[in-house]
Amino acid sequence: MAERLTGHTELVGLIAYPIRHSSSPAMHNEAFAYLGLDYAYLAFEVDNSTLEDAVKGIRALKLVGSNVSMPNKTVVGQYLDKLSPAAELVGAVNTIVNKNGVLEGHCTDGIGYMQSLKDYDIDVIGKKITVVGAGGAGTAIEIQAALDGVAEISIFNIKDKFWANAENTVKKINEKTNCKAQLFDLADHEALKREIDSSVLLANATGCGMKPLEGMTWLPDKSYLRPDLIVTDTVYAPAETEFLRIAKEVGCKHMNGFGMMLFQGAAAFKLWTNVDMPIEHMKEVLGIHYGD
Ligand code: NAD
Repeated sequence: MAERLTGHTELVGLIAYPIRHSSSPAMHNEAFAYLGLDYAYLAFEVDNSTLEDAVKGIRALKLVGSNVSMPNKTVVGQYLDKLSPAAELVGAVNTIVNKNGVLEGHCTDGIGYMQSLKDYDIDVIGKKITVVGAGGAGTAIEIQAALDGVAEISIFNIKDKFWANAENTVKKINEKTNCKAQLFDLADHEALKREIDSSVLLANATGCGMKPLEGMTWLPDKSYLRPDLIVTDTVYAPAETEFLRIAKEVGCKHMNGFGMMLFQGAAAFKLWTNVDMPIEHMKEVLGIHYGD
């Protein structure tokens, strides 16, 4: 480390709270070291109360950029100079890029999800998909899928505090993209069956399957799936949720959230360094498996 870090080393940050558990520093620092790039990635405990100062610090200290996580993703945009179309539509920023003092906000979560599909030979462009969830992950996936050319998205959510956000997402997709989006109550099982039947892919973008909802799924039973349906989960801990266990049992091609996590990082890495993250090396080092 003493040899690697010099007076020339460029810094990339991660501003969130809590953040000490994050796997992003290990991922990015491994990629920098593997490629011999003179960058370092550090996590900083920043919440909304110190966010504005932290962004000023990015400018003042000339950081290359930063990742942004909760609770700052939906708040940081107001302190930046520009937003990417996805960040603007999602209403969240997970990556800041410092271009000579001009701070750009990007949202690479949806990019990561779409890229992970490509990496797993799944093509949804021009087709219909069903996504369950309308929080941070769901919105990023739905907006990016629409921007990338998915033809139709049926969004399901429970009637909780995220319902209004789901309505807003559907409105934005229908107004700002060529994709047709519709919203349904997850309690409407008839609609759920019908929309899954006419989709090529079904995605879980809720916290179901992960602590504190580990072991549970909103899927009523396995009759809702069919072997040629592609099934994905944003959850990666555990690597196999109850939802993916059922998909596997039915014989569906399935993928967990590791791909989205890896490729959202790869997209940010490319924005900061203009170099591709060494994906196959990262999969090996991080022990990443998407499906079977
Ligand atoms: P969020 O809190 O913003 O949204 C939670 C979503 O889950 C909402 O749509 C909510 O309505 C839904 N939900 C909550 N309880 C539910 C229940 N009992 N039944 C049905 N739906 C329920 O969270 P988020 O940031 O969108 O994260 C959602 C999941 O995606 C988490 O498991 C998170 O770990 C995962 N995630 C993965 C990645 C990745 O890179 N793979 C990135 C972000 C999030």
